[in-house]
This record gives sequence, structure tokens and C-alpha cells, in this order.
Amino acid sequence: MDSLLAARFPFLKESSTLAEENSADLDSLIGSPMYEAARSRGIQRVEDAISASEVSYIPLMNEYDRLMEIMSYPYARMIVSCVNDRFLTRRYALAEAVRMNRLLGEEGPVSALAVSRELGLNTVADDNGDLMMHFSDYLRFSSRIKSQDWKLINSDLRGGYVHLPHERFDRVLQNALQDRIESELPLDVPDYVRSAIKRDLDRASMLLSEMKSHYSPSGGGPIDLGMMPPCMRTILANAQNGMNLPHSARFAVVSFLHTLGMNSEQILGLFSQSPDFDESKSIYQIKHITGELSGTEGYTPPECSTMKTNGICFDPDALCGRINHPLSYYRAKARGPRPPEGERAQD
Ligand code: SF4
Repeated sequence: MDSLLAARFPFLKESSTLAEENSADLDSLIGSPMYEAARSRGIQRVEDAISASEVSYIPLMNEYDRLMEIMSYPYARMIVSCVNDRFLTRRYALAEAVRMNRLLGEEGPVSALAVSRELGLNTVADDNGDLMMHFSDYLRFSSRIKSQDWKLINSDLRGGYVHLPHERFDRVLQNALQDRIESELPLDVPDYVRSAIKRDLDRASMLLSEMKSHYSPSGGGPIDLGMMPPCMRTILANAQNGMNLPHSARFAVVSFLHTLGMNSEQILGLFSQSPDFDESKSIYQIKHITGELSGTEGYTPPECSTMKTNGICFDPDALCGRINHPLSYYRAKARGPRPPEGERAQD
């Protein structure tokens, strides 16, 4: 058995087998001094997920290192399960999947094929080592990637299999592993285990709450997100659920929140609730729209007619029928339950 492969990809069956062969069981993992390194690495996996959206890689020089790495994986999963926060679960699943993707880039097609099959995908390699994935699996796990060149119609499809460059093959596996981890968590962790790992649970909870409060929009004064029009609520919810936003939607919601008085940090805080939140990329886009990069006042949000043309006027309600600008909707709500008859926005 390849212990290095088992440690690099600790979700493989080989990893569990290797742990069993070393008599590494749950009680040892949570209590034995021998597994202190696995526990430290386990909490590190969770910390990495919270702080960086990617589990870091550490050198695995010998069999001991590899066993600790393997055992750190179930330990991290127990921590995430006990904290039982949907945002953390999704962020952790993404962080493990991104790590796997990065490591697969260093491996050959044989490892990629082995991992893909472990994840239940129908994949093959031809005589040249080129990788292929059945179109149904390709569709299932690539549909959330919005770029046109990922569409099935633009792929190299032959005999029901999509021929994929190694890099793209790994990227689809990333989505598959993320989905799998999300579907597996939370685990049912016994109370005695919960007590034994309480110190690490408290640490993970504290880091999570620090991260959330760091980006909390509550410092933004009197802005009440509950008064946002349906279009902006939908766009923001989509962003927080990790969906790719079209530029028009991102522009609309950022300029809307900025006009209401939120600064870039506070807007960033709302976007940070997305599991695949990328701070450096998001802050650049937000600061461009709010004018902080150019030193201008920033852009004003589009009126309803433009929102409709762009296909981002979602679920208009009765109040929408009396206004023609999303800002007017907010102001009407803020004024009270019954805005004056005949009011029209000052756009
Ligand atoms: S009518 Fe205007 S405010 Fe209402 S959902 Fe559509 S774009 Fe938003």
C-alpha cells in the first residue's frame, strides 16, 4: 500500500485500511499521547479552512508523519461536525477539496484516476494516459462552473466520455469531493468524544465567530437588510450560497449597499459568508464599484427598468409596483408600512 498516497488523500479506502493496520482507533485518536500530532494537525485543518479556504500541505517524511496526517482527517471532521455550523461545514469541505486539487496537480493520471473512482465517478484513461469522464458525471459536477468553455457542447465528447486535460479533470474532482464531504457531515459524534475534544471545539467555534464578526455588517449603522427589495435580497442570498453572480448582479448589489451607506469592508462582510469567498478578489471588485480605487464617489445602482432588462429583477412584490428604483423600495419600507399614494422614486 502506498502510505504517501493514503496520507495525501486521506478520504481513500486505503487510508482507513492503513489506520486499521496500525490499530489507530477512535479512542486512541482522542486520548492517546501518541496521537497528539494528529489532533494538532486536525485542528489545523479546520483553522486553515476558516482562515484560508484551503487546507495547507505539510511534509510527510516518514510512516509516522503519514499516519498522523491520515488520522488528522477524521479528527477535523469530528470538530466540524460538533460545531455543526452550515457555513463552516461548506467552507471546510471546499478547503479539503481545494487541497486535493492542488496535490493532484503534482500526481500523474494514475492517482487522479484512483481518486476519481473512489469518489464514484465513471472514468477511464486511454493508452496515452489521457483522462476521460462519463458525460453524466461531467455534467453533474461541472454544471456550477459558469464559464462557457466548460459547457458540454464545447467539450471533447467521444462515445459518451468527455476527454479532459489533467487540470480540468482534477477541477471536476474538486467539486465531487466537496459535495461528498458536505453530504457526509455532520457525523454523529458520541458525547464522550465531544467532551474529550472540547478544547479544540471551543477553539474552532471561537475562530469561526471571530471571522464572522470581523466581517459583520452590524457596524454599518442603521441599515436594515430586511428592507431590501426582493431583487437585492435574492442576489445577496445567491452570493452567500456560493453561486457565481453575473457582473450585472454583483454591480447592482454592491452599488446598492454602498449608496445606502455601507463601506467596502461591510459589503465584503456580506460576501464573506460565501463558502468560496476570495477576499483579495472580492475587495478589488467592491472597491472598484464603490469608487475607492479611483477616488470617485462610486456608481449608483441601476433603476428597475435596467434590472429587468438584465434579467435580475427577481420576485417583484406589491411595493415594486409603486416604485421604479430599488433604492425607492428601501426608502419606502424605511418610512413605514404605507408609503404615500402615487410615490415615484427620485432616481
Ligand atoms: S421591481 Fe425593482 S425593486 Fe422590485 S424586484 Fe424588480 S428591480 Fe427590484
